[in-house]
Formats: sequence, structure tokens, C-alpha cells
Amino acid sequence: MTLGIKTGRCRICEKEKKTEWHHIISQHHAKKTGQDHLIYNPNNVVELCKKCHNQTTASKCRYRFKIEKEINQKKEYIEKRKNERTRIKENQKQPKIENTEKEPEDIYQEITEVIKLVTGELTKAKRDIKKEFNGILSYLLLGK
Ligand SMILES: [Zn+2]
Repeated sequence: MTLGIKTGRCRICEKEKKTEWHHIISQHHAKKTGQDHLIYNPNNVVELCKKCHNQTTASKCRYRFKIEKEINQKKEYIEKRKNERTRIKENQKQPKIENTEKEPEDIYQEITEVIKLVTGELTKAKRDIKKEFNGILSYLLLGK
């Protein structure tokens, strides 16, 4: 399926330069309405230079769609980044909230345990020192 051989002459400005096929009934409309044959119908095309082709309604619509698509993609990207940032912020907040909720009882419990541990160690150390001391004393006094 071919649209024929180009003459290299623009149908509108009549300049002889590189040309493109312009569809009179647009390719988009042809596809949308199930008239795909119109895309390959040589009677549905005219030969235009790029400058003239860019000024056709279809071309302008294509350009507008392209810009709109780009804008929407940028909007989606910004929205995604915003959501990520709030998610990160919320995650950062959570441990703090948990800490303040736990704080009074848990810290008291922890301190109590540490005190117990230190006291136990000290008692043990005292006992060891006493034992050591008694050993030295009995060695000095009794020679044993
Ligand atoms: Zn032209």
C-alpha cells in the first residue's frame, strides 16, 4: 500500500522542496472511525512542505495533544514527588510519636533495670573485695 510518488512540489506554496503527505481526512479520525483505508487512499492526501504542513489543523491538534500530554506527565511527576515527600515526612514523624508515648513508663523501667544491674554488680564487687581482703588478712595474720 503506497500513496504514490511525490513530485517534491508543495501544493499550497508551490515551492519545490522536501514534502510530506498531508491527510485531508486525518489519520487519527480514520483510525478512530474504523476507516483505516483512508490512511492509504492516495485521493485523501496532498503533498505539502513542512512549513505548510505544520499550519494544518491536524498538525496543530497533534502539537496541542503533544504539549498537553507533556504537561500532564509533568503534573503526574510533581504529584508523585509530593506524595513521596509527605510519605517520608510521616515515616519520620512516627518514631517520635511512639517515643513520646512510651517515654515516661519505659524510661522509668529502663532506669530501674539499670540501677538494679549496677547495684547487683556493686554488691558482687563488694563481696569480692571483702573476700580478697579477708584472704590477704588471713595470709598476713595466720600465714595461710
Ligand atoms: Zn508549502
